[in-house]
Amino acid sequence: MILILFGPPGAGKGTQCSILEERIGIPKLSTGDILRQAVADKTHAGKQAEAIMARGELVPDSVVIQIIGDRTSQPDCGKGFILDGFPRTEKQAAALDEMLKQQGRQVHKVIAFDVNEEELLRRILKRSKEENRADDNPETFRKRMQSYHAQTAPVLHYYKGQNLVAHVDGMQAVEQVTAQIGKILNLQAA
Ligand code: AMP
Repeated sequence: MILILFGPPGAGKGTQCSILEERIGIPKLSTGDILRQAVADKTHAGKQAEAIMARGELVPDSVVIQIIGDRTSQPDCGKGFILDGFPRTEKQAAALDEMLKQQGRQVHKVIAFDVNEEELLRRILKRSKEENRADDNPETFRKRMQSYHAQTAPVLHYYKGQNLVAHVDGMQAVEQVTAQIGKILNLQAA
């Protein structure tokens, strides 16, 4: 099963991805996490991405497409994977489709998180205290929301055209969002 968790920064994708990873037993692939690790390790991709991420802008498509191509061809992705933070542009979505087509696979479902902007900012500020991320502050949040509206939101139309999108109310408590996703995916109640 190949799942995409889709939504703006702070919507709860990472939290639900980790829960789903446990529940379904397929790995969570977060391009944000992979990039933060690359920055910490000072790899080539990390050096390319560091300043861009700190500004709240999107890292070039070629960099993240390469990362996802490498990661999804690992053996643990054989039964599927859950994407968090990818694809973020139409170009990335088309590249993912092409890559999966070559592997004889396809996206199963896109779960879109609906959360209002006030709540997103509240969560981002909370996370900045807990995780000390360079991009979790009000100024960068605004830039990340701009990138989201301009470049990422259109990706949802791409998947709507393929009839793959299910919405969840991301304003609910974590457990309720988990239950809603469980119903969408026909998972047994935990
Ligand atoms: P996230 O943890 O998903 O919010 O990602 C943190 C930052 O990493 C983003 O603000 C971008 O700068 C970068 N990033 C993560 N995923 C992508 C992607 N699919 N395309 C471009 N940039 C990305």
